[in-house]
Amino acid sequence: MNKQPPLDFEILYPRFNTPITDLDCGQKCAIHNSHGVPFCCDICHAIPAAYQSEWKFLRQNTNLWREWESTDCNDVELDANNPLSDLPDNMILLTCQGASLCQRPYRALSCRQFPFFPYVTEDFRFIGLAYEWQFENECWIISHLEQVASTYRYEFIQTFDKTFNLWPEEMENYANKSEEMRSVFSEKKRRIPILHRNGKNYLLNPLNDHIRITTFSQYQKFGPYQIY
Ligand code: SF4
Ligand code: SF4
Repeated sequence: MNKQPPLDFEILYPRFNTPITDLDCGQKCAIHNSHGVPFCCDICHAIPAAYQSEWKFLRQNTNLWREWESTDCNDVELDANNPLSDLPDNMILLTCQGASLCQRPYRALSCRQFPFFPYVTEDFRFIGLAYEWQFENECWIISHLEQVASTYRYEFIQTFDKTFNLWPEEMENYANKSEEMRSVFSEKKRRIPILHRNGKNYLLNPLNDHIRITTFSQYQKFGPYQIY
């Protein structure tokens, strides 16, 4: 049974509603997706996850979502790991009606935060935004961090401060994810780009969490986005 105190999504969603960037980044990435839609709205590339209480809220307010089914993506070559295997107990996988039928007020938190997650240091501090590194070659924003609106960054941090305050165990989940990122990046001898909560931008050493202030031009670009 879920004993988490309720997070009020009716209040939370409007406070985390600023677009990630001023331009339509979906137009930048969809042209590189064989399905012709933004990668983050393509069930074959990203399966949205929602908290159980969030799913309850969505079910009561919109017909945008239904529970994800393993047959939702027909691309056999993309059928990699079982997405349910590392899903936390308090979450559920969902499928929406698709990008052309999106209802912005009812986007899940996972839609709003993509491609970022709250980075938690080894000594358990939520210092800012790190990106979903598995999407480096797909997501245009990851190659254009300079385009991330400062209001979006602010709202992201406020949202997760509130969430972690109410659900401290959620921070543990992101601490684990951050640890995984440190491990991947230290193996590749790379530093982790951080959009810090103080408004500045850094490269973080995955071996010791030391941060070095940087400029957007120092951040790497990937895949087709290296040229634009
Ligand atoms: S967030 Fe990334 S994947 Fe999603 S629409 Fe924007 S560029 Fe595409
Ligand atoms: S709800 Fe909207 S933003 Fe979220 S995956 Fe569906 S189309 Fe994309």
